[in-house]
Amino acid sequence: MPIPVPNDHEVLIKVLACGVCHTELDEIEGRTAPPVLPVIPGHQVVGLVESTGKLVSKLCRGDRVGVAWIFSSCGKCSFCISGQENLCAEFKATGRDVNGGYAEYMTVPEAFAYRIPEVFNSSQAAPLLCAGAVGYRSLLLSGLQNGKNIGLTGFGASAHIVLQIVRFKFPETKIFVFARSENERKFARELGAFWTGDSSDIVPEPIDCIIDTTPVWKSVIEALKNLKPGGRLVINAIRKEDTDKSLLLNLDFSTHLWMEKEIKSVANVTRRDIIEFLDLASEISIVPEVTEYSLEQANIALVEMKLRVIKGAKVLVMD
Ligand SMILES: [Zn+2]
Ligand SMILES: [Zn+2]
Repeated sequence: MPIPVPNDHEVLIKVLACGVCHTELDEIEGRTAPPVLPVIPGHQVVGLVESTGKLVSKLCRGDRVGVAWIFSSCGKCSFCISGQENLCAEFKATGRDVNGGYAEYMTVPEAFAYRIPEVFNSSQAAPLLCAGAVGYRSLLLSGLQNGKNIGLTGFGASAHIVLQIVRFKFPETKIFVFARSENERKFARELGAFWTGDSSDIVPEPIDCIIDTTPVWKSVIEALKNLKPGGRLVINAIRKEDTDKSLLLNLDFSTHLWMEKEIKSVANVTRRDIIEFLDLASEISIVPEVTEYSLEQANIALVEMKLRVIKGAKVLVMD
């Protein structure tokens, strides 16, 4: 590919690292299809500013910056003006609607590039830009307060970062983790979970809020059952699979919804989520475990992700 040319408001980034996310499989396999092909995937990008457009004022050549899922929004609609740019009708996603970071170079609007805290190397910072920032947004939307209890359904990259944020910001909160494998449950307990079990287990005490990061419906039904009156379920998933959709017929109003239980989804991220989360991550020193691949090994990394060969977050590292 030719090196892209930044427009007046954009910077050209020499990519150092780009995280591999499950959403790339959704794009490639057509569940979240890019509107135009070909497109370069990748939305957890860390790189150095190589050159700047004429109207760029805050970033300079040599600055280390990150790019996340939000590539741009209109900047004018009521959502954009109120800081909910994640809901903008003109929201553009990095690596789906425009070229992303599986590349040596990419361009991005200056306003959507974030300085990366010194404490992280580039491979460690990459997964924070997606799993971390979206996890942070999910936690904000859950409305959790110190001393209230939280459940996490599914224990992947995002949930294990959320657990660490909860421990830091809400020390009196009990954390309940619902995970399929004993390994994941053990890891959750090591990180400080109060209780671990399967999503179909009944918890010893009802929970104030639950964040679901699974692609299935079973966890939605089970979570609603475990919520306290007035409790909230936050679904942090870009899509849900149809395979077990018939379970929704088991939804029982009095068991699952009565007593003001709420369901809310999480869509995308805002710039504020990313900036606040990067700050917090450096304060708590959240350091994700990463496995590195070269750019040429991108397809191997994707296949391993599909086959669930999980060894921490996968990151492509450019020479
Ligand atoms: Zn992602
Ligand atoms: Zn807008």
